[in-house]
Amino acid sequence: MPIHERLESVYAEVLARNPGETEFHQAVREVLESIGPAVGKHPQYADAKIVSRICEPERQIIFRVPWEDDSGEIHINRGFRMEFNSALGPYKGGLRFHPSVYLGIIKFLGFEQVFKNALTGLPIGGGKGGSDFDPKGKSDREIMRFCQSFMTELHRHIGEYTDVPAGDTGVGSREIGYLFGQYKRITNRYESGVLTGKGLIYGGARVRTEATGYGTAFFVNEMLAARGDSFAGKTVVVSGSGNVAIYAIEKVHQLGGRVVACSDSSGYVVDEKGIDVKLLREVKENRRERISVYADLAKHARYVKGQQVWEVPCDIAMPCATQNEITGKEAEQLIRNGCKVVAEGANMPTTPEAVRLFQEAGVAFGPGKAANAGGVATSALEMQQNASRDSWSFEYTEDRLEDIMRDIHTRCIETAEEYGMPGNYVAGANIAAYTRVADAMLALGLI
Ligand code: GLU
Repeated sequence: MPIHERLESVYAEVLARNPGETEFHQAVREVLESIGPAVGKHPQYADAKIVSRICEPERQIIFRVPWEDDSGEIHINRGFRMEFNSALGPYKGGLRFHPSVYLGIIKFLGFEQVFKNALTGLPIGGGKGGSDFDPKGKSDREIMRFCQSFMTELHRHIGEYTDVPAGDTGVGSREIGYLFGQYKRITNRYESGVLTGKGLIYGGARVRTEATGYGTAFFVNEMLAARGDSFAGKTVVVSGSGNVAIYAIEKVHQLGGRVVACSDSSGYVVDEKGIDVKLLREVKENRRERISVYADLAKHARYVKGQQVWEVPCDIAMPCATQNEITGKEAEQLIRNGCKVVAEGANMPTTPEAVRLFQEAGVAFGPGKAANAGGVATSALEMQQNASRDSWSFEYTEDRLEDIMRDIHTRCIETAEEYGMPGNYVAGANIAAYTRVADAMLALGLI
């Protein structure tokens, strides 16, 4: 899709200002392409340099993270926190520890987070952070020392009313525990609301662990219902086998679908009986092993090394691994195999070409900033519980999550219709989120 003529110079400026940050360029381009109709109808959405302001992070923090491994060797990683936009609330978004992390990845994730968080309708701005630290193969004590060093710098930038990090790839409840412990020591404050994704015993919320995966499955359920369909009898393929994938699989099964395959970066497993979530959790969460171990333990499953999980035929595809994992090639294969619905559990797992192919083929496509917003939405519910020193039941919290996902779905559908693009979730999500952020910024003066 071409960029609206009033926004062309904004995109050129983003390219010039952020050289080499291709993932960020991709995320910005998608939003700029989508919001053309809103700018055409309501010119104030491109006045007062509002688009340029939204594309420029409010604050970018980059810092050194020195740490010592178990043999006494010293390592230096780079830490980031991208405080992107606080018009709607404190910066909110996860931390990613992965060797692929660099400024462009954190900037793209922070940018996406601004819109995702706006779509939830909850009072949270957008931010993201992380490090190029590779947790793979590290001992528990090395992870702890790294987290402590990371927080020793990060603590001065965050706070309940300022910036509230959580987890993302490579950062789960173990890491959040070490980060929270260090924050508490340094500041001498038991500030529960400074991090989300905490353990239940020290201020965490029920359903937060499951929320991103559950939310994505709820979103697909809404997409199916909008087409007069349901999960019953559907074959589903999920990529990844981390936190998002595990709980997406669990909820798909509860809703009547059958997930026959999931993956990691080395290959995938097929289990025609339906992936056994208990076993998957044992392999990934307890043993911290590769997915091939699942096939060693489940006799009816098979492991396929070095191939893409998208070659497994399915009705519904849920990419829950990482950015740009479905390119044009994989999209063509999915379409050929009869896939009818795709929803992103990960952030930006589908390339622009693949999105275009899905849309042209009539495949319903749910973008991550809508489909995977359940994680951060439940983080906002955790913040609510921390602020009121309360603790909600699993059922109540899950009901709230389901309502939020239903509202996001409705918002996307109604906005897409309003702008003459029925069924286009990408346009609906981007326009609904952008106008909310822009309205808040315009109301707050020149910020
Ligand atoms: N990392 C998650 C995301 O991409 C959740 C962030 C949060 O809970 O703050 O939305």
